[in-house]
Amino acid sequence: MKNGKNEELVYLEILDARGVLFGEKRKEKLYTYTMGYEGEREFLEWSQRYLHSNWRIENDFWFLDGKAMQADFILMSAYIWNLIEVKNYYGHFTYKDGLCWHNNKLIDDDIFDVMKQRINRIGKIAVAVDHRIEVRPVFVFINQHGQLHMHQKPPFEVLQRNQLVEFLEGLGYVEPMTANLSNRITQQLDRNRIAYGINYTRLDPTVLTQMRKGIYCANCKSFEVNINKPGIQCRQCGTKESIESVICRHAKELSIIVHNLPEMLNSKNLNFLMANQLSLRTTRKYLSKNFEKEGKSRKTYYKIK
Ligand SMILES: [Zn+2]
Repeated sequence: MKNGKNEELVYLEILDARGVLFGEKRKEKLYTYTMGYEGEREFLEWSQRYLHSNWRIENDFWFLDGKAMQADFILMSAYIWNLIEVKNYYGHFTYKDGLCWHNNKLIDDDIFDVMKQRINRIGKIAVAVDHRIEVRPVFVFINQHGQLHMHQKPPFEVLQRNQLVEFLEGLGYVEPMTANLSNRITQQLDRNRIAYGINYTRLDPTVLTQMRKGIYCANCKSFEVNINKPGIQCRQCGTKESIESVICRHAKELSIIVHNLPEMLNSKNLNFLMANQLSLRTTRKYLSKNFEKEGKSRKTYYKIK
């Protein structure tokens, strides 16, 4: 989220766009991650708008506690950390007899149990910065088509979308953090941070041959694009993009598809992926300009990251 979408979501989007997203589980995952991403993006926008600027916004913090865990947001002041979990559930969320249901389906990882574990670990991190810091867990159900049915009092504070502005504004003015405190927080978070924490299963890179080939629109994923000298334009949504940007974007895509075979990151394979809609010369020109070359003459490939 901090740097855009997580890698697994990007990967699933590629498979989907190119017609090789097989299996119900993968489709479900793409939906869940997309909703999660959209929800967090929206919460971030609202926070930037309604939260006093002296609050520090920490977002998408991954840490270890037996397994990889994530905190969506921590809104920090000198003495209070609001630990925010954003849920973007479309439809009905029900809490009854200590169980959580989404559209009448039991939620596998009980969201309130996960919060208990999350707050325990974040609490320790906070105390190591300053023992006076209080960590307050808050759930935000952000989906505008979401409905909550709480048959009992939830173990944590729960906000609905229409309470969000009031909540953020209500956090109010806080004293600006001293540089010293701010540095200590950064150090403590860095010490506990892990890289995006999920090892996901990728398909064999030969999936490249089964994929739909061609250049597609960055915005709406349509393959209906006009390709001209300065750039492409989508016939569906009108989005324009320079040729250089198109090549870089598809090169990154190729690097995710052939993840464990870096020598496949060459101009030929990239043109294969783009259905040869650009000349090899053009592809090479922008690959050389943007990425580092590896290998000798005929076996040149690029370090794309
Ligand atoms: Zn488009």
